Formats: sequence, structure tokens, C-alpha cells
Amino acid sequence: MLATVDPLLPLSLLQAVRDVDTPIDQFDAEYVDELRNKRLGLSETVYAQIRRHAEAVSRGQRTPLEESVALARLIGRRPDAEDVFRTAGAYLAREAYLTLSAVTRRLLRLLPSALARPIAYRRASRIAERYLNGRVRRVGGFLHLEVPRSITVDTAPNGIGCTFYESTVRELLRLLVGAIGSVEHTRCTGRGEGACEWRADWRSFDRAAAITRGADNAHGPGGSRGADRSPVN
Ligand SMILES: [Zn+2]
Repeated sequence: MLATVDPLLPLSLLQAVRDVDTPIDQFDAEYVDELRNKRLGLSETVYAQIRRHAEAVSRGQRTPLEESVALARLIGRRPDAEDVFRTAGAYLAREAYLTLSAVTRRLLRLLPSALARPIAYRRASRIAERYLNGRVRRVGGFLHLEVPRSITVDTAPNGIGCTFYESTVRELLRLLVGAIGSVEHTRCTGRGEGACEWRADWRSFDRAAAITRGADNAHGPGGSRGADRSPVN
């Protein structure tokens, strides 16, 4: 059977390309027509692809995995690949988080962390399965995400492709439970270790600081630009 992914995954990659390529200063904005030729994210091709994948998202229609791999390869050739992958991961996490009901999101914020954590774990499992073709498990105070077939592995040098999933885990857990500890890439397909796996330290998390920020930043599609962009390098 043909391997497929949820259309939100390629959509997140495309939104990130557009996001990163959109001019942020006045000087760039004045030359937007010229930039359109130079920056893929502002091109008609990318707009058309975004529309196509957004329609697939609303129809719940999965897309071929290989198409997303090709897209990731294209991003991997850019000098700012890490910035794009991290932006895409955060975008995917936010959109997936917004598929939870408002009641669940509020409960996660109000319940004591001992009660919130099991709910967050179940939601994270479902989200990982649906949007990342991945599996989540708990080991002590850590949450592990395993992705047997990564879309982004080896699409850029130095494991940069894997930052997409790292960014998704970090942002998803921040939205679900609050700011978490370190996220380590403990196994990698690119290093011949079978699957890619990340280990997130969520023994202690800072709810007060992160939840407000999470709620403020969790708005709809296209609203991902700004504060959350990870610095390049
Ligand atoms: Zn990896």
C-alpha cells in the first residue's frame, strides 16, 4: 500500500516556506515584486500548493508520503533550512493542538499537573500518530516520540532535517502542559539506528510562564509568524 501522511504535514512545510520568505521590514516590503522571483515562498507555485493542501486538510484526504519527502528535500537545500523546518514543526504542533476541543484545552490549563499530564499524554499520542506517523511512550519522567519513517531525515546536512520533529514535540508539549525541559534526539535513522526518536524531559514544567504564551500564540492558520521563530544557528 502507498505510504501516506496527513495533509497538515506538507501544509506546515509550505506555510513555513512562505512565512520565512515573507518580508519583515519596510525595505524588503517595498521590493516585494522583485522578491517574488527570488523567494520560493512568495511564488504562485507555493500559494497554489498551500491552497491544494489546505483543501485536502478540510476534506481529511491523506497525501502521498513521497510528495512530502520531495518538498522536504527542496527545503533542505536552502541555507536557512533549519529555520524553515523549526517554523514548520511549530506550525504543525499549533494546528494539531487546535484540533482539540476548547474544553480539553481549558482543562489542561486548569487541572493540577498530576491530572493534566495523563490527558496531555493521550492527546500527544493521538496527535503523533495522526500527524507524524509516530508513536509516543512514557519512560519515567520522559516522553519519547518514535518516528519510524521520517519525512525530513537526510534532507539537509548535519541532521538539520530532524529539527522539524524536535520543534513539533517541543511546541506541542509547551501548548499542552507548559514549557518543558530539554528535547534530545536520542536515535536517528540517519545514523543507522533504525528509527528517529526524541526524548522530552517533562518531569517538571513551567505552567504559569508557558501556558499564557501558548494560549496567546495558538491562533489559526497563517498566524504563526513572529515570537516563536527559533534563531538560526
Ligand atoms: Zn533523526
